[in-house]
Amino acid sequence: MARIGLDDTWGFATRSIHAGQQPDPAYGAVTTPIYQTSTYAQEGVGIHKGYDYARSGNPTRTALEECLASLEGGTDGIAFSSGMGAESAIAYLLRSGDHIIVHDDCYGGTPRLFNHLIAKFDVRIDYVDATNPDNVRRALRPDTRLVWFETMTNPLLRVIDISAVAERAHTVGALVVADSTFTSPYLVRPLDLGADIVLHSATKYLGGHSDAILGALIVRDADLAQQLRFVQKAAGAVPGPLDAWLILRGLKTLSVRMRQHQANAQAIARFLRDQPGVMRVIYPGLDDHPDHALASRQMRGFGGMISAEVAGGKEAAYRVLGRTRLFTLAESLGGVESLIEHPASMTHASIPAERRAAIGVADGLIRLSVGIEDEADLIADLRRAFESVETRRIDTPSEESRTPISSVV
Ligand SMILES: *Cc1c(COP(=O)(O)O)cnc(C)c1O
Repeated sequence: MARIGLDDTWGFATRSIHAGQQPDPAYGAVTTPIYQTSTYAQEGVGIHKGYDYARSGNPTRTALEECLASLEGGTDGIAFSSGMGAESAIAYLLRSGDHIIVHDDCYGGTPRLFNHLIAKFDVRIDYVDATNPDNVRRALRPDTRLVWFETMTNPLLRVIDISAVAERAHTVGALVVADSTFTSPYLVRPLDLGADIVLHSATKYLGGHSDAILGALIVRDADLAQQLRFVQKAAGAVPGPLDAWLILRGLKTLSVRMRQHQANAQAIARFLRDQPGVMRVIYPGLDDHPDHALASRQMRGFGGMISAEVAGGKEAAYRVLGRTRLFTLAESLGGVESLIEHPASMTHASIPAERRAAIGVADGLIRLSVGIEDEADLIADLRRAFESVETRRIDTPSEESRTPISSVV
């Protein structure tokens, strides 16, 4: 059986199972082996089967990289030891004096990387609200080298208009980086919409089982691919073969998982909207979400993440978090199991309180990564957890619970 490569026109689910893979030529193993080796025997000096040292290449990693490239419609996938390793690899493309534009509501690790490690190389960074693509246009300069955003932001789940931002960024030749961790290639393929680099924390939906950390970049441009491949080898943040294999296995069920994640999320979003203890529900699949129309146009579904503001602020939010049994209190997302967290004190704690308030990360906000358990069980779990809030709200309505919704969106 021939290796299924990038040119094949199979559907998404088929490619997620087969792309880059073939039964093992040595013994016919149906799954790609975990090539747990650091080096490779050479038949003569420089004569080998394409691999000489495992930082430069590993067949398990290659299978993953080809599969990711196929799913994103790219020509090259380049895997790293974490999502942040992938982000750092992009930073190596910059030169001193370059200007970059980053969407202002980003995964916290991104501003930490740029402000603390990259800014000292005299890279100038502007944070703008890219939900309005004209804000990006206004911030562009002749030396803008990168425009960076997430396809769906965290925890407010805003959706960025990829082609509108890319069109503006390309007027000055800036590279467009789309972190598609929250959407996965199942929901959107940013390269098709003009992005130059797709970034994944494969730790999340791609792996899907909360058991491995890995990052990846996917590109279409051969020159860019070559530069990033060089960074992978020269800077060396490569994933181990076991982690590559875990993500490769996760990818095989990506389409069925995503369908179930979003079916459950849609039902839970509707359930939460009817809960008296909930002030607002943020889910792009609800028609009152500010980006509902864009999301409907740009994405194949609305994903598995929901944020909700609990009436009664942090205290009430903590009560809900303390009462769920199926939703585990934890950071991260995208796994088969449902998780719940409090952004203001967990994933977004490093953002100053004032800034959190300004962007709408209220103290009563909770974030749910909806898993693929039975929908009825998840709803029953939340119903039980919310019983505590409703009664308390009548007794002690807090200042925050009276904040009009429009002022925080
Ligand atoms: C988790 C995450 C990252 C960082 O990925 P790691 O695999 O944890 O290094 C980057 N971007 C987004 C949107 C994330 O959620």
